[in-house]
Amino acid sequence: MAGYDYDVGVLGGGSAGLTLASGAAQLGAKVLLIEKEPHLGGDCLHYGCVPSKTLIKSASVYHLMKTSARYGLPKMTPPPVASAQVVKRIKGVIAVIQKHDSAERFCELGAQVRFGQARFVDEHSVDLEGERISAKSWLIATGSSPALPPVPGLADIPYLTNKDIFYLERLPQTMIILGGGPIALEMAQAFQRLGCQVSLVQRSGQVLSKEDKDLADLATVALQGEGVEFYLNARISAAREVNGRPVLILFDGQGQQVELSAEALLVALGRRANLDGLGLEDIGVDYDAKGLKLDQRLRTSHKHIYGAGDVTGGHQFTHAAGYEGGVVLANAVLRLPRKADYTWLPWCTFIQPELASVGLNEKAAAAAGLDYTVWSEDFAANDRALAEGSGLGRIKLILDKSEKPLGVQILGPHAGEIINEWVAVLGGGVKLSTLAGAMHPYPTLGEINKKVAGDVLAPKLFSDLVKKGLKVFFNTKGRACNPPWQEK
Ligand SMILES: Cc1cc2nc3c(=O)[nH]c(=O)nc-3n(C[C@H](O)[C@H](O)[C@H](O)COP(=O)(O)OP(=O)(O)OC[C@H]3O[C@@H](n4cnc5c(N)ncnc54)[C@H](O)[C@@H]3O)c2cc1C
Repeated sequence: MAGYDYDVGVLGGGSAGLTLASGAAQLGAKVLLIEKEPHLGGDCLHYGCVPSKTLIKSASVYHLMKTSARYGLPKMTPPPVASAQVVKRIKGVIAVIQKHDSAERFCELGAQVRFGQARFVDEHSVDLEGERISAKSWLIATGSSPALPPVPGLADIPYLTNKDIFYLERLPQTMIILGGGPIALEMAQAFQRLGCQVSLVQRSGQVLSKEDKDLADLATVALQGEGVEFYLNARISAAREVNGRPVLILFDGQGQQVELSAEALLVALGRRANLDGLGLEDIGVDYDAKGLKLDQRLRTSHKHIYGAGDVTGGHQFTHAAGYEGGVVLANAVLRLPRKADYTWLPWCTFIQPELASVGLNEKAAAAAGLDYTVWSEDFAANDRALAEGSGLGRIKLILDKSEKPLGVQILGPHAGEIINEWVAVLGGGVKLSTLAGAMHPYPTLGEINKKVAGDVLAPKLFSDLVKKGLKVFFNTKGRACNPPWQEK
């Protein structure tokens, strides 16, 4: 390490940065982690996954209270939600996880944590509030921020982003949400359930535009059923403030001008990589409007400066950020030339029913010009889903022409948990026959995995050839009953 203060320097204490810092420190490297905010954990812990999933749970319990009659229980009209109590619970959950992501814990692991704004002054050194600090390798893991669309007037009116939405002192009665991605949908359902009338405005004709349209449309129908109003194919022409309320002027899917006014406006229209103020131009690290430009080993234009997580503009998920932190660990510390491989990257949108995906969906398979077949099963035929009152949704297994799995999509109850079996099956190269033959506890939602795998094998197992063989060898006598509607 001759000449450098540290082996590894990390900018950003979110999922990507923490993964590298803890791994490198535990491997005996001298690690410095620099975080701009006064706490570690990043967006996921403070303004993303953790508060959103905690809010979603509160909203789903309240929804259950309001829909108790569906389960044969007394009808209830619960009192309105006190936002302060929900926010208190969110802060409580964050506080528990924060201990795991604390500077003290990282110090115990062997990594030094410093808080402040750093800027590169040369290829190996940053300036941290007047102090020059050098490291042999650096990771830029500074995350992303909400992007503001270029709608005239929008920047001048009050709007919320993921930085404010989990900490509202009062629950708004009405809310406009701009965007049709996972954050927009999760918040639309949660706030609608908590008692706020939500209007969701989306540019294209489909929400969750990466997903297959049939599943995204089912999700839309589910949210519409709970009262969320959708404005699809909408073109926003202006935004203004009237009597302290945000107002949006838009042309809806039919080209009609609509004026939407609400107590609150949430902007959830994409993310922008946090690259400002890092001095990257001065040291020649390449980036574009999406984020850092990296090779497959996650190296920037300087081979010892890496990028990981949202700042790359790639797959903006916590588990992707953690995975990429691990890839950097392999390259920068273990010196193993490891490339990032996203073939079996799963993700989930946590609406109810959840929409989870791994590998290619139909849209991606078609875009790649592949021949594929789709095998599907509905949750309406899954006993547990029916017992739970959650029969909406389906699983789709996409196979290539040689019947090798390309991907799986699940819209249904706890899809984010059910997909995990596929992560192991697809990532581990497990045969569909193994999955189809594996005992699954009854009644579970996960049986749908075994069922759809079995569907692929059934035509071979119950083929005329097998039946003929059994007849010859074991003298089987054939059908005992023929329904009248099948008789010629
Ligand atoms: C509302 C919402 C819900 C989400 N839900 C999910 C979910 O359910 N599942 C999922 O997988 N993903 C979810 N995400 C995405 C997830 O939060 C991100 O993908 C993840 O946080 C990315 O991790 P990261 O390490 O790249 O960035 P971050 O976690 O944002 O960490 C970056 C850190 O860098 C710091 N930083 C910024 N600039 C500097 C600087 N100049 N110097 C030093 N430090 C700096 C920041 O303060 C921050 O702490 C959600 C996001 C949002 C907004």
